[in-house]
Amino acid sequence: MLIVQKFGGSSVANKERIMNVAKRILETQQQGNQVVVVLSAQGDTTDELIEKAMEINPKASRREMDMLLSTGEQQSVALMAMAIDSLGGRAISLNAMQVGIDTTTTYSNARIKTINTGRIEHELEQNKIVIITGFQGVNKFDDITTLGRGGSDTSAVALAAILHADCCEIYTDVEGIFTADPRIVKDAYKLDEISYDEMLELASLGAKVLHSRSVELAKKYNVNMVVRSSMTRAEGTSVKEECKVEKMLISGVAADKDVSRISLIGIKDEPGKAFEVFSLMAKEKISVDIILQSVGRDDTKDISFTVAKSDLDLALKVLEENKERLTVKEVVHDDKIAKLSIVGAGMATNPGVAALFFEALYDAGVNISMISTSEIKISVLVDEKEVENALVTVHEKFKAATASMRKM
Ligand code: ADP
Ligand code: ASP
Ligand code: MG
Repeated sequence: MLIVQKFGGSSVANKERIMNVAKRILETQQQGNQVVVVLSAQGDTTDELIEKAMEINPKASRREMDMLLSTGEQQSVALMAMAIDSLGGRAISLNAMQVGIDTTTTYSNARIKTINTGRIEHELEQNKIVIITGFQGVNKFDDITTLGRGGSDTSAVALAAILHADCCEIYTDVEGIFTADPRIVKDAYKLDEISYDEMLELASLGAKVLHSRSVELAKKYNVNMVVRSSMTRAEGTSVKEECKVEKMLISGVAADKDVSRISLIGIKDEPGKAFEVFSLMAKEKISVDIILQSVGRDDTKDISFTVAKSDLDLALKVLEENKERLTVKEVVHDDKIAKLSIVGAGMATNPGVAALFFEALYDAGVNISMISTSEIKISVLVDEKEVENALVTVHEKFKAATASMRKM
């Protein structure tokens, strides 16, 4: 079998963990498999590199940031190859340039276009373990790009897809995908399996355990993906097309603090205004999430929507500049908010789910400022200070409801 194994930053944070991982990789090879390994930067290296850059130039270009950040992954792969060598194994480390991982030009948020498999296959044929830098690629200018924070998961899944690997194992610091972040919700429990669609929602709604693009690719190429711990032998969570749904009424709760809300007050109530507002945002490549429009009154209406915190300044600037043309009386914003979401494929067929969610928020005394729904999720905007408490209460409510449903 050909297996792709990805180890996250905490799994390779120090010498002991690197040696632990090296042993696991060798074990996989000794069971008769070919192994391609993808690594993240050690521990908090990426954050530390960002801090270093900000001390020197807070407006550093994205190109130079990518040049800097990509060094974290390069350290990990070289150290891992040395560790495997010290245990008597044969390994070679490769960076994105050496492999040929081509990406789009967008620095700091590039997308993988193609991967050259020649060098990898050649090294595998020599019975070597191939250790590849996650998170990075090369664009058409021969510059290093990065795939966005958490992007090593995407490198691993893309490699698994192109190499037709039998499995893509994502090793991390928790035992799998849980019904909520186990670091915040102590009684969250591990799911044996989850569908690509549900995982994609959870990842995009703030469950940072997987890079959402990695789930998108896994779905597209039907990659057999498993999330598990590098520190224990517990079986992880498999992410797949269809699951035998026998879990909580929902598959998970997620919180995302990277949200801010913009409200346009007193827009003229006439056709085309929403079009104008959102075209402006699209032109600046600003993704807009939850949108709410009030019922028109006195010939005016309000439009509110959310954007990522990193896009807030740009969005406000563009809106202020176009205030007159958009007939907006006032632009207001709030960046002390967070998004809380529940996700589950069974939601559409369980009419009580939404009511239960809102009841839990009421129990927690949390006020809701916006609501958005889709077939498999409900999201609400709440005060940032209240989101963790709300996360715990909502999770408790669904856990209890599921238990009493099973008794029936
Ligand atoms: P890695 O460095 O291995 O990529 P990450 O920190 O990116 O690890 O992702 C693992 C973390 O994701 C966990 O430590 C956990 O706190 C967080 N997390 C958030 N939501 C979930 C969830 N639903 N299930 C499991 N982990 C979650
Ligand atoms: N090292 C990168 C980050 O911290 C990529 C990753 O860990 O997946 O975001
Ligand atoms: Mg990660």
